[in-house]
Amino acid sequence: MGVYDCCIIGTGPAGISAALNLKIHNKDFLWFGTKNLSDKVVKAEKIRNYPGIPEASGETLQAAFRAHIDEMGIGITEAMVNSILPMGDHYAVIAGPDFYETKTVILTTGVAQTGTLPGESEYLGRGVSYCATCDGGLYRGKTIAVVCGNRRFEHEVRYLSELAAKIYYFPLYKDPGAFADNVEVRKDRPVSVGGGFRVTGITLRGGETLPVDGTFFLRDSISLGSLLPKLETEDGHIAVNRGMETNLEGVFAAGDCTGRPYQYAKAVGEGNVAAHGVIEYLDRKAAGKTEA
Ligand SMILES: Cc1cc2nc3c(=O)[nH]c(=O)nc-3n(C[C@H](O)[C@H](O)[C@H](O)COP(=O)(O)OP(=O)(O)OC[C@H]3O[C@@H](n4cnc5c(N)ncnc54)[C@H](O)[C@@H]3O)c2cc1C
Repeated sequence: MGVYDCCIIGTGPAGISAALNLKIHNKDFLWFGTKNLSDKVVKAEKIRNYPGIPEASGETLQAAFRAHIDEMGIGITEAMVNSILPMGDHYAVIAGPDFYETKTVILTTGVAQTGTLPGESEYLGRGVSYCATCDGGLYRGKTIAVVCGNRRFEHEVRYLSELAAKIYYFPLYKDPGAFADNVEVRKDRPVSVGGGFRVTGITLRGGETLPVDGTFFLRDSISLGSLLPKLETEDGHIAVNRGMETNLEGVFAAGDCTGRPYQYAKAVGEGNVAAHGVIEYLDRKAAGKTEA
């Protein structure tokens, strides 16, 4: 497997726009996210400010996006990206157990619905994990907590239940599905993760601490600090210039993750600018100069 021209992280409107433009320009790219595209598209009741599709429902807009992507023959790699590592003049993108190399990255991850819990970042890699496939094996026969933001990750919880002796499960959504007997579905909310060198417990809103060997957070997005360390942020959003360039060479960002207004048209416009930024960047690199 060679080095891709670009990896796009996120399948919302910003990612869709970036993918369409890279495809038109025949770039060799991978696009990470979900075939469902984005909950924030599907869940909109009535959209009145998207040009060309008056009074659309989220489902109508999603179907239009899907048809466009399919018609262009663009594939989606259904995986959450857990981290992006600088590798000198390119980047490594880690998605579950897989590793990809890319010259550029476009971040279109949207805004995180929930913040990280106290202790979460501190214990990352020492009992806190974002990836059941990568780290599940470490908890064979152990007791873990799983905090899950979206029903679509339930298969990961079922996978973990085949390994762990006991799971305290905290679904942050309504009507969770059925699980094996070793999964205790909890209605209360966790407020922090704590321990010594490694995680030893998860504390609930009422003050009770459940003893656990590890905690998995399965969310629609990973905190920016964990995804790509040294990425500059401003008020919780990725800092970009008008060309959608971040402070890291070859890394662009677009959509809600760069700031307000949180709107489809802004996301689509920024995705377009980021894709053109990538195309120009690759041209400059190929011509042997990184400065404009
Ligand atoms: C109920 C509702 C109604 C709305 N109505 C309107 C409206 O009428 N008009 C309007 O203009 N806007 C509306 N919005 C706002 C609009 O939905 C957002 O502005 C838009 O979806 C932003 O697009 P985006 O591509 O930046 O991010 P998102 O749509 O949030 O997409 C981000 C995608 O990236 C994925 N992702 C994140 N991290 C990773 C990772 N590490 N690896 C892989 N994938 C990842 C997520 O799962 C998600 O699929 C509404 C939002 C909601 C919630």
